[in-house]
Amino acid sequence: MSDYNWCHNPDCHRIETQSRIRGTGDNKVLRTRKIKVYNPEIPHIYDFFCNQNCLHSFLNQFSREVANIRPVKQPSETPIKIEKEKYESYRYKWTDNGSERVPYMATRTTIKNNS
Ligand SMILES: [Zn+2]
Repeated sequence: MSDYNWCHNPDCHRIETQSRIRGTGDNKVLRTRKIKVYNPEIPHIYDFFCNQNCLHSFLNQFSREVANIRPVKQPSETPIKIEKEKYESYRYKWTDNGSERVPYMATRTTIKNNS
């Protein structure tokens, strides 16, 4: 048995494409796109939206409601360890006849995984 959803963008049926045309003779309509759900066990955003344009159109229209599904009142933090290392790099100094490479000691900061 295969599952289908209708695209959740409220304006999907207003977008003028060949793929949305349905009906016979003079009774033609633009219809919301039908989406085949290949694996209902693994939820995927594109099970509910026919493409990126419809997804973002929906998100822009309902951004407040979407944010309220899981409100964020303060920032989260992930503990990390960092490693700083010095290495020789170059910068270019402009001169009258072009440029010249000037060496200097640069610092690289690397985030070390805690696991
Ligand atoms: Zn759509």
